[in-house]
Amino acid sequence: MDYAATSPLLPEVLEAMRSAELKFFANASALHTPGHLAMNEIEHTRELLAELIGANKDEIIFTSGASESNNTVIRSFEGHEIETSPLEHHSIIEVARIYKGHDTPKLYSYMLANNEVGDILPIKDIAKKAHEEGGFIHSDLTQSLGKIPVSVKELNLDYATFSAHKIGGPVGVGALYVRKGVPFKPLIIGGNQEKKRRGGTYNTVGIVGFGAALEKMKELKSWEIYDKKVRKLRDKLAKRILKEIPGSSLNTELEPGKSLPNILNASFQAAEGESIQLYLDAEGVIVSTGSACAAGDIRPSHVLMAKSGGDAEIAHSSIRFSFGLDSKEADIEKVMKVLPGIVDRLQKMSTVKMKG
Ligand code: PMP
Repeated sequence: MDYAATSPLLPEVLEAMRSAELKFFANASALHTPGHLAMNEIEHTRELLAELIGANKDEIIFTSGASESNNTVIRSFEGHEIETSPLEHHSIIEVARIYKGHDTPKLYSYMLANNEVGDILPIKDIAKKAHEEGGFIHSDLTQSLGKIPVSVKELNLDYATFSAHKIGGPVGVGALYVRKGVPFKPLIIGGNQEKKRRGGTYNTVGIVGFGAALEKMKELKSWEIYDKKVRKLRDKLAKRILKEIPGSSLNTELEPGKSLPNILNASFQAAEGESIQLYLDAEGVIVSTGSACAAGDIRPSHVLMAKSGGDAEIAHSSIRFSFGLDSKEADIEKVMKVLPGIVDRLQKMSTVKMKG
């Protein structure tokens, strides 16, 4: 139940990467035949991603993942006014804090869907506002890709971020959509790759793996499976938690359109999130508290603090359950077999008094 942190490699991805590792080990920028063959594979993934998100293939740049894509956009606006939502990933918030200034045009960076609570934000409206002001809009689509339909054209975005490992692809490869003609400064300089927009030898095998994950997503129309099958499981777990666990509350709005169908964040009064996580882990149930990127950080999650209006108790007692395409009823049964007892034990040990 931690698919939002990273998802298992799809068997098709593993096979495509194994085969690419053996067949396409040439430097994809090289002019010789093996180099061309490797480049063809890269271009195949580029075309596929472009087609799936409504972009032109020249508008896609491969990166090492969503953190790099996010950093690249924010740093392109160094010295400019930058507005972000309070729910952004650290790879937006912390970079914006360092680099933002007062120049125009202004950059808006708002994720379409959040990784901790699953909230869906009104990106189309924000894009409209940004453009009316002569500014630009970036959206982190890392958690949205494959879970809900995403089109950069439909959302009218100038920049968008993607990561392969959230859709059954490998860790360490991602993409950045950059609309033709918008401001851009490369983050990694020193190579002609990606039309001088991102230096570094091509990660051919990783990009092939990304492509295989995209193929599977397209073939399954994964967003339909998330909307039907996965949403039902998520909602069922939510209902059972509320019904069977005293002091529980949801940090995710379940209504379709309000949140991703695969994320459920819940809080348990007078029980600490980290303790619940460790006890669940001992039972073989894998969940997150806040985001894994901040794991080991004892400050409450900035996302839950923003959502709860600064209620540190809600933030400290929260657990994120996240589902994938192969999640099943038995997973819910397993969680509900152990979770009520764990929460009860922690609540009894707690010095925080239960309310109501
Ligand atoms: N943005 C969001 C919304 C994420 O959920 C993540 C992964 N936790 C990232 C960015 C970072 O992705 P990557 O691991 O590919 O750098």
